[in-house]
Amino acid sequence: MTKDLNFFNTLSNKKEKFHPINNNNVGMYVCGPTVYDFPHIGNARPLVVFDILFRLLQSLYGKEKIKYVRNITDIDDKIIESAKKNKKSIKELTETITKSFHEDCRYLNCLKPTFEPKATEHIKEMINMISNLLKNKNAYEKEKHVYFSVSSFKKYGRLSNKDSDELIAGSRVEVSKYKKDPLDFVLWKPSDEKDPGWESPWGRGRPGWHLECSVMSEKFLGKQFDIHGGGLDLVFPHHENEIAQSCCANKTENFANYWLHNGFVTFDKEKMSKSLGNIVKINTLSKTVNGQVVRLALLSSHYKQPLDWNEKLLKESQNTLDKWYNQFQEIKPEKLNDEVLKPLQEDLNTPKYIAKLHSLYEDSSKGNKSSKVKFLSACRQIGLLEESKQSWEKFKKSKLNVDENFIKIKIKDRNEARKKGDYKLADNLRKELENKGVIIEDKQDKTTWKYK
Ligand SMILES: [Zn+2]
Repeated sequence: MTKDLNFFNTLSNKKEKFHPINNNNVGMYVCGPTVYDFPHIGNARPLVVFDILFRLLQSLYGKEKIKYVRNITDIDDKIIESAKKNKKSIKELTETITKSFHEDCRYLNCLKPTFEPKATEHIKEMINMISNLLKNKNAYEKEKHVYFSVSSFKKYGRLSNKDSDELIAGSRVEVSKYKKDPLDFVLWKPSDEKDPGWESPWGRGRPGWHLECSVMSEKFLGKQFDIHGGGLDLVFPHHENEIAQSCCANKTENFANYWLHNGFVTFDKEKMSKSLGNIVKINTLSKTVNGQVVRLALLSSHYKQPLDWNEKLLKESQNTLDKWYNQFQEIKPEKLNDEVLKPLQEDLNTPKYIAKLHSLYEDSSKGNKSSKVKFLSACRQIGLLEESKQSWEKFKKSKLNVDENFIKIKIKDRNEARKKGDYKLADNLRKELENKGVIIEDKQDKTTWKYK
């Protein structure tokens, strides 16, 4: 039975009805993190967006019928550079960042993907794919490098809907004296002695970044599968290259049938960048904001649209959840009908779904038990209100409205009041902090503080 589900497919550049290859085995691949630095809010968006899709597919087709694969890139030039800069071993760096990434996923209440393969565990398969590409004359070897020959794949540029000249003009293409064509991209390159490397028919080296997704999607989902997702910045060159590699190595017409891409995240209307110093790391955010607030904020715009991250957005999400938690109770979630799920089935329209939640909340507050279960089940569909009210309140009390500056100012005011002998004021200030979950202690001439 075909479900009523429609996606905007980047490949066809239009909204299409979703027809899985096999209703009993639906496959989705999403490009995961390169573990060289702590994930930021821009990285959180695809995590949450594709978690919504994963949950929706599970609801429509059955939990056990969806395979969701999200890789971990644990070998890459960025990792090698970052390890050198931070004077850490590759292993130490990638393990630390992977651990932090998993903590971020839990914080954002994302379900675990069915498989989470690592690039370094698939080098043999990558070497096999390169050998196939060389055999099929889609690749060439030069000075221990192997390049994919873009001109050998006629459909190159189909996903971005651009021809070769437009692609070259619109992007920073890596320059190399060994390439025959500027769009050609590296499949294998030699490694310095000190850098990580594996033996191959082309000498000791390491794979190019694009290759791993072609290899790992094939391993877990087959040569052709249903959905491929990622951020908009991956369309070119990463996803174009994945298509080229997979179709040429496997001699198939198609790779993934539906391509979904999420838009960028800006910070106060500015692009997030290291040089502007405005990158919001998830593990910083998690110290003061409940993960559900971040999740709701990320879903407040349609996934294809840009999303602006700012204090107002967080405050609004916080207020909404505070209100919704008034209706919280432990329930056994009910199966949602199409009428409720419809906005999600229409290309994951989360703003419309959130509007629906507001109206379900209104019904629920009128006191009827079945409307309450419906509202709470609908919240859970997108991973909200799964945390108990007690834990929600506790987090809020201990962390939310108190930033460190506020605490420092209150301590300073209190110490000044004590100096002046105004013990009543000093005591009130202490109580004010305590009400916000902050305990202060006086040790000799120093005042320290901690969360309750
Ligand atoms: Zn990928």
